[in-house]
Amino acid sequence: MKLLLCSGCHDVVALVTDERRACRCGSSTGRYREDGWAADVWGPQAVLLGLRNELVPELVLGQGVEPGEKYVTVGLHAIPPWDPRAFYHDEGSED
Ligand SMILES: [Zn+2]
Repeated sequence: MKLLLCSGCHDVVALVTDERRACRCGSSTGRYREDGWAADVWGPQAVLLGLRNELVPELVLGQGVEPGEKYVTVGLHAIPPWDPRAFYHDEGSED
């Protein structure tokens, strides 16, 4: 899954295909493209993040650890502008 991180307000928003979602301060927005694979993000403070889908169940299970047990941790990665799945835009642009 792809997430939008705003480096201005530090909000993190999960992206969807049917709606352009905004961070809390409103300077960063993003949404998935129709193919459900690539994503667009707008705004100079927008950072596109990726979380491998197969790690999500692991995180859900990690909620059930007992006190003293090790926390479940997984990796999150920043998707750079040169990645074929990432489309970074200046604020105000629809394309
Ligand atoms: Zn923000």
